[in-house]
Amino acid sequence: MTETVTTHEPYARAVQEPDDAPVPHLSVVVPVYNEEESIPHLYRRLTVELENLGLPYEIIAVDDGSRDRSFDLLRDLAQRDRRLRVVRFRRNFGQTAAFSAGFDRARGDVVVTIDADLQNDPADIAALLAKIEEGYDVVSGWRERRRDPFLNRRLPSMIANRLISWATGVHLHDYGCSLKAYRRDVVRSIRLYGELHRFIPAIASWQGVSVTELPVRHVPRRFGKSKYGINRTLRVLLDLVTVRFLLSYGTRPMQIFGLLGILAGGAGLAIGAYLTWIKLAYGTAIADRPLLLLAVLLIVLGVQFISLGLIGELVVRTYYETQAKPIYVVREEVNGDG
Ligand code: UDP
Ligand code: MG
Repeated sequence: MTETVTTHEPYARAVQEPDDAPVPHLSVVVPVYNEEESIPHLYRRLTVELENLGLPYEIIAVDDGSRDRSFDLLRDLAQRDRRLRVVRFRRNFGQTAAFSAGFDRARGDVVVTIDADLQNDPADIAALLAKIEEGYDVVSGWRERRRDPFLNRRLPSMIANRLISWATGVHLHDYGCSLKAYRRDVVRSIRLYGELHRFIPAIASWQGVSVTELPVRHVPRRFGKSKYGINRTLRVLLDLVTVRFLLSYGTRPMQIFGLLGILAGGAGLAIGAYLTWIKLAYGTAIADRPLLLLAVLLIVLGVQFISLGLIGELVVRTYYETQAKPIYVVREEVNGDG
């Protein structure tokens, strides 16, 4: 389920746009994987809420390789309602990929994501939009009273949220909540891999956007079953290591690997020097000392780390320069004659 997924702008531009419909202000992205019972309810409730907002909108449902009737139901609905667009994956690529496909196609200035299983309440979208109007770039839902089992869902999620907040410096109570709103630029400029969708607020914060959270309602799943178990926690933790690394050292890998290399290599050299000294000065036998092994290990490690740092520096240059990507994000520019 952890597929590598890229969202390339040129690809996004190649996506076919229906040209006579009004340009939506709001795009709602819904990932769908085997949710046939929920779809009719979801469609009805979303439509009611979105019509109440009185803004042009579109719903982009991404069928992530469902093996039930989800796609047929969505297609029938889309044939009657032009505001509903359906994307069907060839196989199950995972929720992150589904979001990514939705973001590539979203035309609205604001993009809202919501789960298909009705655990989120579409009525909360209005409040999220109000926050965006206030000027925030990302509004993250917070399932304050989350209605999932405690031991295998809420507890791991509590720990993960603390860890992510601490490691990324973006303090949110509920990274895992799918109900979120973004300005389109934010999601367009972020490439998603693995299970990274939950980290969008943290990744976006690197670009200097403002992030806030808002308590939202949450209800137990009524139909179908959850697609995840406890093993997701481990994958989230691994993704956290990736995000933390990219946020801090994504453009300067030598500074972390070089530091580790100096520490390891330095300690190895110091131990080696000590052993050499007692050998030469006192004639002590050192060949059978574990310390000698440690010294050798640390020196080899040190060389490895520094080489890794240098290779990292090469990779970073290739990454940024082949895509002509800047290593900064500009808010605006003012010049005299403009
Ligand atoms: N989902 C998906 N692809 C997957 C797994 C899940 O598109 O591989 C969708 C699923 O249909 C639902 C949302 O992602 O709309 C959240 O999944 P789920 O409710 O199972 O997660 P939970 O709420 O239990 O964390
Ligand atoms: Mg759910």
